[in-house]
Amino acid sequence: MIRFQQVSKAYRGGRQALQKVDFHLQPAEMAFLTGHSGAGKSTLLKLICAMERPSDGKVWFNGHDISRIDSKQIPFLRRNIGIIFQDHKLLMDRSIFDNVALPLRVEQATENEIKRRVSAALDKVGLLDKALCLPIQLSGGEQQRVGIARAIVNKPLLLLADEPTGNLDAALSQQIMNLFEEFNRVGVTVLMATHDTSLLNSRDYRRLDLHLGQLRELGHGA
Ligand code: ADP
Ligand code: ADP
Repeated sequence: MIRFQQVSKAYRGGRQALQKVDFHLQPAEMAFLTGHSGAGKSTLLKLICAMERPSDGKVWFNGHDISRIDSKQIPFLRRNIGIIFQDHKLLMDRSIFDNVALPLRVEQATENEIKRRVSAALDKVGLLDKALCLPIQLSGGEQQRVGIARAIVNKPLLLLADEPTGNLDAALSQQIMNLFEEFNRVGVTVLMATHDTSLLNSRDYRRLDLHLGQLRELGHGA
């Protein structure tokens, strides 16, 4: 599903964020991107959804070279990708329902379709009864689950999560991990960036570990 070939990224005026990164993620795989703050995790995720472009090397998504993707094609790429941020980026003046409906409205889905799929997504994260609330009425863990519902509402092939548990305690973080495992069990490919490796102790997950922009495989047969 994703292949990086000798991918380097240097920001203008900044230092090298990624250096000759090579890896391959199969469909329906679940893997973790680990490394300290500044190691290049966000940069790597941004290259996959074309929020940044590589300075060198190639990024493949589903057989398409997206390193030099035409900007007109980016919305089509993003339809296949659900993105979850640490700070969840909810619209604070809109209801939970409307926040989750956002990607479907962009796709111009019908109102019936929107009702059905938003309800299904909220049900999956256990927040169906909060549909009409505003984000401020929800706890931090619940707000993060709204972000997850929004990311999965259009049934993406791939879920990218950037430090989704960054602001949560251990029990809530585990709850988020369990949700990702459930999506993965039904075939969604998951790539999650975290600096918190204690989350990964319960299983032999595949780990792509970044150190100063260089990637090495850890765990899972590495
Ligand atoms: P992580 O997600 O692991 O914390 P990042 O990918 O955010 O790492 O950052 C990797 C490196 O690239 C850091 O040195 C960071 O300061 C730098 N960097 C990230 N984004 C930018 C940007 N937009 N402009 C310049 N430098 C950046
Ligand atoms: P900015 O870089 O301006 O802060 P964002 O980080 O919110 O913008 O989003 C960057 C791009 O990613 C936007 O074009 C947005 O449409 C897209 N995007 C945000 N969330 C998702 C999602 N869950 N699924 C697919 N694309 C998304």
